[in-house]
Amino acid sequence: MTATSLHLELPTLTPEAETLRQEVRAFIAEERSSGRLPPPHRIGLGFDREMTKRIAAKGWIGLTWPRQYGGQERSALERYVMNEELLAAAVPVGAHWVADRQSGPVLLKFGTDEQRRFYLPKIAAGDLTFSIGMSEPESGSDLASLKARAEKVDGGWRINGRKIWTTNAHRAQYMIVLVRTSTVEGSRHAGLSQLIVDLAAPGVTISPIISMAGEHDFNEVLLEDVVVPDDALIGKEGNGWNQVSAELAYERSGPERWLSSFRLISELVDVLGPDARAASLEELGRLISHLLSLRQLSMSVASMIQQGQSPNVEASIVKDLGTKFEQEAVRVVRNIVSAEDLISNGRAERLKALLIHAQQYAPAFTIRGGTNEILRGIIARGIGLR
Ligand SMILES: Cc1cc2nc3c(=O)[nH]c(=O)nc-3n(C[C@H](O)[C@H](O)[C@H](O)COP(=O)(O)OP(=O)(O)OC[C@H]3O[C@@H](n4cnc5c(N)ncnc54)[C@H](O)[C@@H]3O)c2cc1C
Repeated sequence: MTATSLHLELPTLTPEAETLRQEVRAFIAEERSSGRLPPPHRIGLGFDREMTKRIAAKGWIGLTWPRQYGGQERSALERYVMNEELLAAAVPVGAHWVADRQSGPVLLKFGTDEQRRFYLPKIAAGDLTFSIGMSEPESGSDLASLKARAEKVDGGWRINGRKIWTTNAHRAQYMIVLVRTSTVEGSRHAGLSQLIVDLAAPGVTISPIISMAGEHDFNEVLLEDVVVPDDALIGKEGNGWNQVSAELAYERSGPERWLSSFRLISELVDVLGPDARAASLEELGRLISHLLSLRQLSMSVASMIQQGQSPNVEASIVKDLGTKFEQEAVRVVRNIVSAEDLISNGRAERLKALLIHAQQYAPAFTIRGGTNEILRGIIARGIGLR
């Protein structure tokens, strides 16, 4: 089998995207100066419903969606630029992140007009948080082996199963679950479906899982005879695998896959000042050049999405390289902090807090959204090596 080459074009940002960048920066500056956006002491997406409402008021949730569903009909590259600015400044966007990035786009692509009219304007208004119900205790990488099932009942579906690592389920109104609805001889991937579950419905039990950093972000969600109506089905019964594959491309290529450690790097630069050792500057320089090339790659994928393509392989490359970079950044910052003795004299409290949190959080970078081993399998298959 011959290897297929990948085609990545470097996009040029439009004047509209550059204008939006300035608008987002002005918003962030205003939020900081008003005290509503304190400098972060942790990495990762924070959760702040009020911030989400203020971002929604700007029209920045569902930015690319049709106006009839509450969107602004702007380009994927403009959305990219906006998110880059919000993430680099550590604006807490967790209350709308999943809904904006993947639940809304999945409804737009596969949902009925009725579903779009019901959910999308509420997401765009910053009123709805969605969570992702894919992983199960025995099914993570091998997602098609999942055990949660939904059986057809009069007027709807009855769901039984257990989902795990469900980020924000305790704060969300809805979860899109992937469940088995039929068995197709010879294909594990056929017969899976996506259903929208109201997390306040009878039979839903959400239990916290506390992370290594001592935080409650993810959960285990038990579904016991949860009945959802017929119109909770997204797309076609049995087509869930194809829908989820499209969804994961949105999840894998964005700036959140290489910017998680950015605040740590930027805080280090502030603390270091101009008198750092040559060896530290060299390490930092290498890190930042790596960051810039990842940015180009990630922008290329945004541009492919803009052109209506489904860049699954390219998105997997961004996530593999981006998340390794995020972990490498923590290691490099730790080395420089230690070599420069930046923390012992107490002049870098925020850097210290960020570094402690980043060290506890960093293992998750290469697991969430599909592990790097799995991504490399997808890449190998995509370029014809497997
Ligand atoms: C911070 C965080 C947030 C998350 N949020 C959500 C969420 O909101 N919703 C949700 O559904 N899930 C969520 N997840 C779960 C995540 O998608 C899974 O953890 C991930 O897909 C891996 O599955 P697993 O944990 O079952 O590991 P396993 O699949 O058991 O894998 C264990 C190890 O074996 C390796 N491995 C497995 N199969 C292969 C193979 N074929 N070849 C090579 N190596 C292999 C893996 O790479 C990994 O290193 C989240 C995870 C994290 C860390």
